[in-house]
Amino acid sequence: MNVRNCKEGWKEEAARDGRLTPLERHRQDLHREICGSCRTERTRLEVIAGVLRRLPVYVPGPFVVSATRRRLLESASRMLD
Ligand SMILES: [Zn+2]
Repeated sequence: MNVRNCKEGWKEEAARDGRLTPLERHRQDLHREICGSCRTERTRLEVIAGVLRRLPVYVPGPFVVSATRRRLLESASRMLD
């Protein structure tokens, strides 16, 4: 069973994103206790979040920021011409 097998499955991601009200979140917590699909989805999302937290964060140097800004401004200027 996967998230597609439960009409409440989308709420697992919504809860993580803070898109549920406290009541909706509570109801999903209760639902998850009886729904293997939603438990699996919750675990899947936790695994993905854990992997993403361990990824290095790319911080561009000032030259890259400057060059990117210049290209964006040039592109926007061409769109206005
Ligand atoms: Zn479910």
